[in-house]
Amino acid sequence: MAEVLLEGQNLTKHYPVTKGLLQKTVGWVRAIDGISFTVEQGRTLSLVGESGAGKTTTAKMILLLEKLTSGKILYKGEDLSKFSAARIKSQYRPNVQSVQQNPWSSMNPRMRVRDIVGEPLVVNTKMTKQEIREKVLEILDDVGLKAEHASLYPHEFSGGQRQRIAVARALALNPNMVVLDEPVSALDVSIRAQIMNLLKDLQEQHNLSYLVIAHNLATVRYMSHTVAIMYLGEIVEYGEAEEIFQNPLHPYTKALISASVLVLPEDETEEIQQIILKGEMPSPLNPPPGCRFHTRCNEASAQCSEAVPEMRRVKENHQVKCHHYV
Ligand code: SF4
Repeated sequence: MAEVLLEGQNLTKHYPVTKGLLQKTVGWVRAIDGISFTVEQGRTLSLVGESGAGKTTTAKMILLLEKLTSGKILYKGEDLSKFSAARIKSQYRPNVQSVQQNPWSSMNPRMRVRDIVGEPLVVNTKMTKQEIREKVLEILDDVGLKAEHASLYPHEFSGGQRQRIAVARALALNPNMVVLDEPVSALDVSIRAQIMNLLKDLQEQHNLSYLVIAHNLATVRYMSHTVAIMYLGEIVEYGEAEEIFQNPLHPYTKALISASVLVLPEDETEEIQQIILKGEMPSPLNPPPGCRFHTRCNEASAQCSEAVPEMRRVKENHQVKCHHYV
């Protein structure tokens, strides 16, 4: 078993809804409600679900861009809330980097590639200019770019190359973990595989952990070791990626997979009937009682609208939150 690098324990994020001049709190948006997961060293956990499921909020909590309402983040077994500001700055932030969905918007168009990639080294280390120059060339080589690319500007690159630059920047400080927010969804389909392969190669070379935020199941199946399916602020199914893709149990997971038959091997596609979900995801301001998915679930029974299902371990590598699996 791989070592656990980061653990989310019962993470919750509620935003107050305020009204009037006095900003009186009149309700709470329950963006994340008690989710738990682990990210292992050298492996990939993907958070999957429709927009509004809470994937991005979870990533922001891990990147310390959002405060937790409750719960704990453990880094190498230690509670992050007990870290001093200096320790967060020196030990956590450099080790937990991110790559955004759109590489274009996350780069300063007036900076050359060597400065974009080298900036984290200037800010966070005492390396000399020469050392930084050498390190930048080394990282550019790692991500499949050439030395001459260092003096160019972002607009001189294709989308795939810009994503390589963004990855290079994220790797500058030799992190343990990278949060990848929809790492290939903004790219042409023809170059997605190249970037996914690059990310997998880099993971192997550097023993990197990835937290991937994605809605495209083909990407998730290709990249992940572990998958967490999210719906309306909760994890509803969690486990080893291949186990979940081959044996989905939660009705929501089954619907997601049925809507994306392309990700299944050819011999399995014929047997898959697309499951059409009713309606839209309800508002997290007022989530449905009982199972939050019951308003859209094709398998709901009477208890589903009243009793909240618990997360159950159905196999060593598979957990599901549904009354049908008790
Ligand atoms: Fe559907 Fe009921 Fe299971 Fe929820 S608990 S997913 S409503 S069957």
